[in-house]
Amino acid sequence: MVADPAMRAVSTAFPALCAVSLTLPFAAGWLIGGTWRTALAALLWAGLVRVAVLQHVTWSVNSLCHVFGSRPFATRRHDRTTNLWPLALVSFGESWHNMHHSDPACARHGADRGQVDISAAVIRIFERLGWATNVHWPTPARLDSRRRGPGRGEPEPTLQPGGRRTGQASASRLSPRPADGDRIR
Ligand SMILES: [Zn+2]
Repeated sequence: MVADPAMRAVSTAFPALCAVSLTLPFAAGWLIGGTWRTALAALLWAGLVRVAVLQHVTWSVNSLCHVFGSRPFATRRHDRTTNLWPLALVSFGESWHNMHHSDPACARHGADRGQVDISAAVIRIFERLGWATNVHWPTPARLDSRRRGPGRGEPEPTLQPGGRRTGQASASRLSPRPADGDRIR
């Protein structure tokens, strides 16, 4: 990510983005209401409270989605991530967290029928506009290869060429990249 010029630009612009993100609500409150009181109220609710809610949704995904919910997809050993539907809308699809940890490179986390994933919809639009390329979308075969089922629970320990018994071989096949690079954590 450090090598990506776009990511570096976003990182550099972060302080300015924060300022704009708080100044805009303040300005809107001032323009609409015309008083300090309305400007500060808009800053509070559309600025500070909005940021606080966003942060708590992020933290909820990384706490609740490791405790409550379903685990339809295989993940690495000791990875207890879950899919938690009540958070799907407010987390823009991030709460399909079990799927995300099972296949971190996949653009859609809510890959099963009826699972709302707003982030995936945005990526799809960006792809149509030509702003996103080489997007990894789930296919039925790709999903099925990761799905847990009878006899397909935790990755079984396998014997590696060196003779060391470990569960890492099959686990790393399921997670080509470490899930710790989560966009939302
Ligand atoms: Zn996580």
